[in-house]
Amino acid sequence: MEIFGGMAQSGRLLILDDEATVGEIIALIGSGLGFEVRSATTAEEFFRLEAEWHPTHIALDLVMPSVNGIEAMAELARRHCPAAIVIISGAGAGALQAAQQASNEHGLNVLGAIPKPFRASRLRELLSTPLNAAPGRPASPAPPPTRYQPSEDELRGAIENREFDVFYQPKIRCADGEVVGVEALVRWSHPDRGRVGPNAFIPMAERTALIGPLTTQVLEGALGWLAGHRDQPQLRLSVNISAASLSDPGLADALVETTRTWDLPPDRLILEMTEASALVDPLASLRLLTRLRIQGFHLAVDDFGIGSSSLAQLARLPFSELKIDTAFVREVSRSEDARKIVKAITALGHSLDMLVTAEGVEDPETMQYLRDTRCDQAQGYFIGRPMGGALMSAWIADRRRGAA
Ligand code: C2E
Ligand code: MG
Ligand code: MG
Repeated sequence: MEIFGGMAQSGRLLILDDEATVGEIIALIGSGLGFEVRSATTAEEFFRLEAEWHPTHIALDLVMPSVNGIEAMAELARRHCPAAIVIISGAGAGALQAAQQASNEHGLNVLGAIPKPFRASRLRELLSTPLNAAPGRPASPAPPPTRYQPSEDELRGAIENREFDVFYQPKIRCADGEVVGVEALVRWSHPDRGRVGPNAFIPMAERTALIGPLTTQVLEGALGWLAGHRDQPQLRLSVNISAASLSDPGLADALVETTRTWDLPPDRLILEMTEASALVDPLASLRLLTRLRIQGFHLAVDDFGIGSSSLAQLARLPFSELKIDTAFVREVSRSEDARKIVKAITALGHSLDMLVTAEGVEDPETMQYLRDTRCDQAQGYFIGRPMGGALMSAWIADRRRGAA
C-alpha cells in the first residue's frame, strides 16, 4: 500500500477511531502529508482535543462499537466545529453519502466519505483538498443573529431561485421520549451571506404577498420529507402559518392539493399559528380554521403565553395543540414564576382538550419538571436542534435503535 506522497499539507489532523490499527494507518497517511496528528479512541478524549487543540482536519469513523459516530457528528455541529472532516466507515456507500450530505446541511464541512476498507489514495486525495475549495463552510447550523433586512425584490428573487431550505426540529412525548413529530423551520441559503434565519425575512414576506409562495415552498419540501416517513404514522409534521395566510382562501386549497400530491392523510400535518394571528380577523380565521380542522388537519397555537388574547376566543377556535412559548420554558430551571406559569398553561391546555407542548427545553431539569407536571410533549435544544432533512431522518432512526 502506498502511504506517503500526495500534496504537502500543513495542519492538525485529529482522528477518532476505536479500532487502533485503522487509526494508525490514517495517522501515517496524515503525517506523510505533513500534518501534525493526534488520535482519540473515546468520545471524551476526542472532544477534549477538539476543544483544546483546534484541529484543522478531522477523520472520523461513523460506525464504531463503543462510540456513536452520528452523535459525535451532531456534537461537532453543535460546537460549530470549523474543521474539514473526512468520514470513514464500514457502513454501505449509500449510508456514507447520506451522512455526508446530512453533515453539510448541518453546517459541517465534510470533505468526503470513504468506505472501509479504504483506499489510502482516496484518503490522501481528500486530506490534500485545499481548504478554501472545501464545500459547506462557512454556513453555521444555528442561524446567526442578524440585522440583515432583505428588500422585497431580493426576497422575490430568492423564492424564484428556490434558495430556501427546510430544517426540522424533533418533538418528543414527555412520558416515554418517543419522537412524535418534527417542526419545519425555514432557512435561506443566501448566495453571499450564508444561512439566514427566518426572523430576518419572514416579517418582510408577511408585509408583502410573498408569504404565500414561501409557505408553499416550505410545504412542498416538508411534505416531501414526510412522505419518506409514511411508514411511521405516529410522526407528524408541524408547519408555521402566518396571520396573512389565514385570510388567504388559497391556503386551504394549497394544503389539500399538496397532501394529495404526496398521498399523505391531512392528519399527519399540524398547522402552527400564534394566538394573535388567529385573532386578527377572528371570524375569517374561525371559518378557515374550522374548515381545515374538518378536513383533518391539526391546528396548534404557537408561542402561547406572550399574547393577550381572550381565553373565550381561544376556546372557540378548533385548536388541538398548545405550544408554550420558549420565553417561559427556558427559565423553568431558574425561576419559580416560570415554573408556575408553565404548570398553569399546561392545566389550561388540558382543560380545553389540547395536547400541550413545551418549546425551548434546554436542560434535563426542565425535562423532568415537564414530566412531573404532565406536560404532553417537548421540543428544544436539549432534545435536538433544528437540522437538515437527511440528518433528521438519521437522528430519528438512531433514536429508535437506541430505544430498542
Ligand atoms: P417558532 O415557530 O416558535 O419556532 C421555534 C423557534 O425556537 C425556532 O427558531 C427554533 O430554532 C427555536 N428553538 C427551538 N428550541 C429552542 C431552545 O431550546 N432554545 C432556544 N433559545 N430556541 C429554541 P427559528 O428557526 O429561528 O424560527 C423563528 C420563528 O420563525 C419561528 O418560531 C416561526 O414563527 C418563524 N418561522 C420559521 N419557519 C417558518 C415558516 O416556514 N413560515 C412562517 N410563516 N414562519 C416561520
Ligand atoms: Mg412554530
Ligand atoms: Mg414557538
